[in-house]
Amino acid sequence: MGLQCKIVLNARRTTTYCHNLRCMVYYKTSDEVELIRQSCLLVCKALELVAKTIKPGIKAQFIDKQAEELIRDHGAEPGFKGYNGFPATLCVSTNESVVHGIPDQTEFVDGDIVSVDCGVFQNGFFGDAAYTFAIGDVQDEVLELMRVTRESLYLGIEQAVVGKRLGDIGHAIQEHAERKHNYGVVRELVGHGLGRNLHESPEVPNYGRRGTGQVLKDGLVIAIEPMINLGKKEISQLDDGWTVITRDKKASAHFEHTVVVRKGEADILSNHKLVEEAVKNNSELKDISGKN
Ligand code: MG
Ligand code: MG
Repeated sequence: MGLQCKIVLNARRTTTYCHNLRCMVYYKTSDEVELIRQSCLLVCKALELVAKTIKPGIKAQFIDKQAEELIRDHGAEPGFKGYNGFPATLCVSTNESVVHGIPDQTEFVDGDIVSVDCGVFQNGFFGDAAYTFAIGDVQDEVLELMRVTRESLYLGIEQAVVGKRLGDIGHAIQEHAERKHNYGVVRELVGHGLGRNLHESPEVPNYGRRGTGQVLKDGLVIAIEPMINLGKKEISQLDDGWTVITRDKKASAHFEHTVVVRKGEADILSNHKLVEEAVKNNSELKDISGKN
């Protein structure tokens, strides 16, 4: 894996890059939040389309093309395509792939889990969200990994309120995934602020200590995105320069929401409900969403 200071997609690789304006934390106005919500909604429409389409025999490049068309039909641009040279609209990461998989001609097969991550740029603002799909007869332990990863996302979001600290978000995720369920929480890739840029300060780790880190203030927009491994936390990167996989080749799951920090309760700007309705209606998929 390269050690260069490369800002990667969606999930940001942690770096010590913080010597310029990227360090600044930009708090969003209500109008800006609404524009980010629109971008996130389009992201989720793309993920909804994936949820309707994905099944054994479908190729990753096919869902990528569909998503790009949908985004462009809405007058928006794919947020990832061309970002640091990434070649596609979606990151499609199957089974032991954690994130940043490049869509290719491989057909999905029964038993795959597929993390699909999408970004949109519209009206000057980015949106970002991801969902992991279970195709067909997925092993029970992998379905459980997906459930717990999704739960850990919502536990993290519960902490994204005025007066809490960044470490509270990571702590909640780590506590659930690692301490309670003994999964591996990826350290090298983290969530991030976003707005006019796909990646803004602060970094949002999926691990941490309660009561530490930056105090969360009203109007902070962040993408929270636990990447949780069935086995150990260690990752590697493939020679394509993008795809991140688990070093032990066991499965990994990834769920992401963009949220705005508010008093009392975070406002979730992305909409997984659209996606989960489509999952429920696709008989080729297993629904792990439960009642949340
Ligand atoms: Mg992201
Ligand atoms: Mg993302």
